[in-house]
Amino acid sequence: MSTSDRRQRLLEKRPRVQLYSLVVLNSYILAPVGKYICLPVLNCYACPIGTVACPVGSITAFVMVPYFPFYVIGMLGIAGLAVGRAFCGWACPFGYVQDLLHRIPGRKFGLPRALDATKYVLLVVLVVGLPLLLGNPYDFTGTERVVFEAGGTWDYCALVCPVGTLQAGVPGLIANADFREKASWRTASKLAILAIVLALAVLSHRSFCRVLCPLGALMAIASIVKLPRLRTDQGACTRCLRCRRTCPTSSRLVPENAGEGEATSECVLCLECVRVCPEAGALSASLGGKSLVTSGGKTSE
Ligand code: SF4
Ligand code: SF4
Repeated sequence: MSTSDRRQRLLEKRPRVQLYSLVVLNSYILAPVGKYICLPVLNCYACPIGTVACPVGSITAFVMVPYFPFYVIGMLGIAGLAVGRAFCGWACPFGYVQDLLHRIPGRKFGLPRALDATKYVLLVVLVVGLPLLLGNPYDFTGTERVVFEAGGTWDYCALVCPVGTLQAGVPGLIANADFREKASWRTASKLAILAIVLALAVLSHRSFCRVLCPLGALMAIASIVKLPRLRTDQGACTRCLRCRRTCPTSSRLVPENAGEGEATSECVLCLECVRVCPEAGALSASLGGKSLVTSGGKTSE
């Protein structure tokens, strides 16, 4: 089998890569070391089995002190340059959960592009703005920032993050009577947000990534300059738009002239567009100018 065929087959295995990532990032045994490592994936730090530090929670914690999050921003910048938003497409556990939910059959719909801006507002207001203005009203004792407290901080993790609710909040509520007793309006609103996000994931592919994920906003900024690129061969492309229909984030643009944009900043480099393109050689992905994979004329979507 040629290198090109092997890479084509890797595209078919993306769900398996996502599953491995979910298991590794929630393997518990890696947590003592892994929690010091910040990766561009949304996986709750507060969950005991979570093995890495979430960039969103880490930035909020630094900003509250306040201290500039050099380490986190540096990690995101390096990741964005090296692989764009590929962590969102291939490694983020919550991205995988959304991909699975979207497989549930039924009517699907797209969301207006204008809603994509919402996550930047959340980033500015709830990840940086309010935490910076209000600071941390408590010590970092680990007890006061539990989301089920009537008080608590005013930030994305405490008020919105459905991943924290799913990974730490729901298991905590089930297992711990003290959590249930202390449940407040914050608990109720976070459970409602989780339910809405999961329902939306069924109906509209990667809707959370596009609209509500501040890490997605950060990675879109961090990957403005990036090494991975898509390229459409104008001679081979038939404008069938299969790539656009398949794109999970509705980010695929089909350029009509060489040099025009291939995808919006919502592109998570899942390479589904390359996988489903029915024309051999019409669409390819490269890294730093070196070809990675080229459409092989597959016909299954
Ligand atoms: S443009 Fe292609 S690589 Fe980017 S998100 Fe859409 S399908 Fe995936
Ligand atoms: S699927 Fe391939 S041939 Fe069809 S529009 Fe996209 S790049 Fe062109």
